[in-house]
Amino acid sequence: MCSFSVRARFPALDRAILFFNDVLSPGDRQLHPTTTATMTLHDKFGRQITDLRISITDRCNFRCVYCRSADPENYRDHEEILSWPELDHLAKIFLSLGIRKIRITGGEPLVREGIEDYIARLHALGVEDLSMTTNGHLLAERCDRLLAAGLRRINISLDSLDPGKFERITRTKSFSTVMHGIDAAQKSRLAPAKVNAVLVRGLNDDEVESFAEFARDCGVIMRFIEFMPLDADRHWTRDLVVPAAEIYQRIHARWPLVQIPHQRSETARRYRFADGAPGEIGLIAPVTQPFCGHCSRIRLTADGKLRTCLFSKDDHDLRSLLREGASDEDLVTYIRSVVTEKEEGHRINEPGFVPPSRTMVFIGG
Ligand code: SAM
Ligand code: SF4
Repeated sequence: MCSFSVRARFPALDRAILFFNDVLSPGDRQLHPTTTATMTLHDKFGRQITDLRISITDRCNFRCVYCRSADPENYRDHEEILSWPELDHLAKIFLSLGIRKIRITGGEPLVREGIEDYIARLHALGVEDLSMTTNGHLLAERCDRLLAAGLRRINISLDSLDPGKFERITRTKSFSTVMHGIDAAQKSRLAPAKVNAVLVRGLNDDEVESFAEFARDCGVIMRFIEFMPLDADRHWTRDLVVPAAEIYQRIHARWPLVQIPHQRSETARRYRFADGAPGEIGLIAPVTQPFCGHCSRIRLTADGKLRTCLFSKDDHDLRSLLREGASDEDLVTYIRSVVTEKEEGHRINEPGFVPPSRTMVFIGG
């Protein structure tokens, strides 16, 4: 897909990108990460924090059984959610602190109007690795604009290749629109898309081989994520988790896999097919093979709370600081002090583990 024609179709977006390139203030340029970022963020265990997940909304058009409840909406009020200027302000602060990777998430990020402009502004700030996680429902119609804004990588959730089962898991009838979204991403410069499946025992664990075949047929990076105790209905139990080792064995028995070297801070163990078929397999095993020792991530929730772990017991309130007029120096000092105390690891496998009060949709995965 040609970005030139995309820009011709969306002149307003093009102007926005030029505008943000042109009007970055000297202060903003000073915060430009690829040129002058001198600060870094470390915790007390020596881990450098370079990745930030930003949830831009707690709203979602799906109700996946392992994430949200079927109950009526329980969204936060609009004024509780960070505004775009507040999100811009915090992004600059984080970039000045050595954040290099930003993943935009939610809730469902594509339901918040203005996301393309936000991506364009992050892109103009020079984020090295800018990506988004989406359920794919609105992706086909938005793919061109997201690309033009500067999005370079995408993760799309897909928990079943069977339309009926997809409907039961997501409580929507959106199977075909999501498949169109994946198709649009694969035909664009976002390819290869990462396709995320959360496997739940007895629900969709019979589809491991079908998903692997999907990766081979479509050339996507098929990632299997272990079910974590972050669901709103609190149905998680250990025996609902499908261990990554089992997934590996099943795929490897059918299509031998070869490990791809990965960075230690990457969440996924990566594999290619030994027979040279396209596509890739990623295994994300936070429950059975925790990777906390090399974690480089922090999270900003839609309501402006900083979280140093998915399973943190406490949030740290950046929104109040911002709204009370804290200076950038105050914000930097606060963020540093919070990050220093990042948890050594989650405690899912320890006796007495208590899931965090915030569930996945309110954290941002
Ligand atoms: N709505 C978008 C989506 O579904 O891709 C982005 C937000 S969603 C919270 C981000 C990721 O978290 C998705 O890949 C989703 O499958 C995953 N997720 C949600 N609840 C989970 C859970 N309990 N255990 C493991 N992964 C979960
Ligand atoms: Fe929504 Fe994503 Fe949670 Fe599904 S996993 S309910 S799409 S936020």
